[in-house]
Amino acid sequence: MTLPASARYVVIGAGIHGLSTAYHLAKELRARGTGSGADVVVLEKATPGAGATGIACGVVRNNYFQPAMSELMQACVEVWESDPEAYHYNGVGYIALGPRVQESDLVAVFERQERIGYRSELIVGEAEVDAHMKGLFPDWRARGVTVCLHEHQGGFAFNVESVMGLRDKCVAEGVQIHSYTEVTGFEVGADDTVTAVETGKGRIAVGEQVVIAPGPWAQQFWRMLGLPDTIDVRTPAGDVQHDVRMWTYWNLQEGEITVDPLMFATADGGAPPVIHLDTDAPLYTDDGDLVTNELWGIYYKRDRHGVQGGASPLTVDGDVQLDPYPSTTDVDPTFPDMWCAALSHAMSRFQGCRPLYKQARSGGVGSFTADNFPVFDYLKPNVYAILDSNHGYKMIGVGREVAKVLQGEHSSLLYPFRFERFATGDLHPVSNSPYPWS
Ligand SMILES: Cc1cc2nc3c(=O)[nH]c(=O)nc-3n(C[C@H](O)[C@H](O)[C@H](O)COP(=O)(O)OP(=O)(O)OC[C@H]3O[C@@H](n4cnc5c(N)ncnc54)[C@H](O)[C@@H]3O)c2cc1C
Repeated sequence: MTLPASARYVVIGAGIHGLSTAYHLAKELRARGTGSGADVVVLEKATPGAGATGIACGVVRNNYFQPAMSELMQACVEVWESDPEAYHYNGVGYIALGPRVQESDLVAVFERQERIGYRSELIVGEAEVDAHMKGLFPDWRARGVTVCLHEHQGGFAFNVESVMGLRDKCVAEGVQIHSYTEVTGFEVGADDTVTAVETGKGRIAVGEQVVIAPGPWAQQFWRMLGLPDTIDVRTPAGDVQHDVRMWTYWNLQEGEITVDPLMFATADGGAPPVIHLDTDAPLYTDDGDLVTNELWGIYYKRDRHGVQGGASPLTVDGDVQLDPYPSTTDVDPTFPDMWCAALSHAMSRFQGCRPLYKQARSGGVGSFTADNFPVFDYLKPNVYAILDSNHGYKMIGVGREVAKVLQGEHSSLLYPFRFERFATGDLHPVSNSPYPWS
């Protein structure tokens, strides 16, 4: 496919956000009678799903302490549920379990979910949580868990397949997706609008707007747009932290065990919800060696060829070499011992699973903003940025909102994620979770 000389809308990046934006924009233009998918061009330096989207664990949940995240996620789950077949979405639900220190957070999350009509259930008390979990999984044996949020919506989707579903929807709307087309720079006019996008295959003049959805490559685009590496951040209390790095990196640790996926089923043989377990009970390997006696956590789900999941990510000092993605990254060598011990701590069916750990590349690098929450905003008069701070495979609905914003509408769901919040102190509340994305 030859690169067109110009396009009304140029979307950069064919991950979950770029493709969802392109698809919803095409639909929006058609519905308004103001255009079609033929007005939208997607530029991707590799192929669709080559970035973080293609390696995401695929968990879709609404367990967010921050009201704005929770409301946005409700809209995203609506998109997942709108076409489970095309998106390869499994609405099996999601369970978050925590120790006493997380009780107030999960209660607050549950109460908000009740208010906004997101279907979930809250169980409080060690014995009550144990009974709830044993009802689902008779071999449940995790200790130190006093609160359980059982979301009856959400679940997980198959990462690459969902990208293909979105790609097909784009193509059906007439959107052009140009793979192996790397964006190398922008031409900026006197009024600060981007007038053309430069690529390794030539330049495309921009008729109206550009959307950047670069995933972990956010910092590269930030610099291309002439934005600073550090910013000042005003806290909600009014103090100002100076020279905070805008972009930091974390190494996400994930892995899987090769077992018959059906061994991980509910008591009635049904598909299990995704499980996220945090506890402060001491963690031992099956051989009785202490792994940790501090707060630890894991998540896991049934996958096509076994059980897949992860644990807390590791911070990365300084910049990272992202390309080729994600082969430059490694998980902590002790991760398999910890994750398998934790699976066994949770359910006796996983006792002795350590030899079944699959020795393959897993996990990868994510990039995070100064406050670890997304930035969804215009960075130039006609350049909209979707920089999700590694929250975002689940956020398939952001593109639907962005499509409306590109047409001049206000999105109350995206507004709390504007860049200006760092200057005004309108930051999102912080939870007691050890994860940077909770
Ligand atoms: C190991 C791991 C597990 C995760 N698990 C989950 C999970 O379970 N649930 C969840 O919600 N989120 C998860 N995430 C986070 C999620 O994957 C990301 O937040 C999300 O996929 C980002 O989507 P994106 O479309 O913004 O970026 P990407 O999917 O990274 O897409 C960006 C695209 O831009 C392209 N690109 C980059 N530079 C250029 C350029 N110069 N020119 C043209 N194209 C370019 C890239 O090739 C890439 O395809 C996980 C992340 C990781 C790393």
